Amino acid sequence: MYNGPTNALPSNFMPHSDQLPESVPEATLASLLEQARHAALHSYSPYSGFRVGAALLLTNGAVVTGTNVENVSYGLTICAERAALVSAISQFGPEIRIAAVAVANLNESASPPCGACRQVLAEFIRPSAPVLFPMAGGLRTMPFADLFPLAFDMKLKQGPTP
Ligand code: ZN
Repeated sequence: MYNGPTNALPSNFMPHSDQLPESVPEATLASLLEQARHAALHSYSPYSGFRVGAALLLTNGAVVTGTNVENVSYGLTICAERAALVSAISQFGPEIRIAAVAVANLNESASPPCGACRQVLAEFIRPSAPVLFPMAGGLRTMPFADLFPLAFDMKLKQGPTP
């Protein structure tokens, strides 16, 4: 039986400390968008042709990218944002925090993060983190908390029993 440290580490829904500055310079966001665009080149999207890339800036300074990976069983498709998040945790562990997100779409289509990705990002992203994505009228940047104001949270009346 594995007795090492638990991975039940602090998420946004658990207390944690995060001392790094919250402001993300415009140039950093522009670079993040470029990296998202690069990731979108790897998209596996033979069914929709919708080629998306996401880049996450972590509070440790690293940038992790992801792209959408479709499947013939459509419901198994994973979005670029979640692919990037899974990769970030795989590389750096569950204590990561996301400081900024950029989403790029090679079809020049609007690509705000879908509802599922918003909920999954909510677990690890700073509420103030800028999220940059293409809309019909051009690029848009919003703080995550404005993009997803009522994240599901699990509030138990009493703590879970070990
Ligand atoms: Zn999504």
